[in-house]
Amino acid sequence: MSKKLLIAGNWKLNGEKKDISFIKNLLKFHSKKLTKKVDILICPPFTLIDKFCQLTQRSNIEIGGQDCSENETGAYTGEVSANMLNDLNATYCIVGHSERRLYHNENNNLLNKKILNIQKNNIKAILCIGESLSDRKQSKTLRVLGNQLKGALKNNINPNLLEIAYEPIWAIGTGLVPEYSDIEEVHDYISKKLEDFYGKRSKKIRILYGGSVNAKNVFSILSLNNVNGALIGGASLKIKDMKSILKQFI
Ligand code: PEP
Repeated sequence: MSKKLLIAGNWKLNGEKKDISFIKNLLKFHSKKLTKKVDILICPPFTLIDKFCQLTQRSNIEIGGQDCSENETGAYTGEVSANMLNDLNATYCIVGHSERRLYHNENNNLLNKKILNIQKNNIKAILCIGESLSDRKQSKTLRVLGNQLKGALKNNINPNLLEIAYEPIWAIGTGLVPEYSDIEEVHDYISKKLEDFYGKRSKKIRILYGGSVNAKNVFSILSLNNVNGALIGGASLKIKDMKSILKQFI
């Protein structure tokens, strides 16, 4: 079954009010022809989600969070909940990006709680998994990814509200991309793991690749077996780059 592609931009700690022009420009650029083939998602910082959701509400452009709390409500200073994202009409939330795992010590147990909360609020979770360079050098890649999937996807996660992003840590923001045969090997492995967990219901889950995707390599990467989209950091920040990426799929 061929799946509709998902092209998602992760803005990280970037984006101010003036970047509303990005969304206005994207709204003008996107067309039925494009969104028939590709789901487009932008994940700005929390401060821009409300405005972006308002601007895109009658379009096919989706807006999502880059993270959210594992808690619903209460005394958790500085946190934003999945319920709050839903309240703004955000439809996706990234979970377990390697920067969250590294700088905020997020582990698979915590990510599992976050995913459960995200799905409870009818938002799609994009679970990021990825190996370090040392894992890859020691041929531990598949084992590491298998453990990340097993740990984060326990306790009745709903496969209908789930996407996976394979992001080798050493490829994020570095300009390095794995050999295409390595990307295919990993995506094939993830696809089989998901089938073990969810049987036929796994077929709906998209497996995105992330790590130094740009306008030059996106088409080749998204043509690989079991690659159903891309999670894009740096190249999603400028409208010119995003358009160059998207127009390849019209
Ligand atoms: C990311 O932030 O998820 C990412 C893949 O970044 P970049 O595209 O800049 O490597």
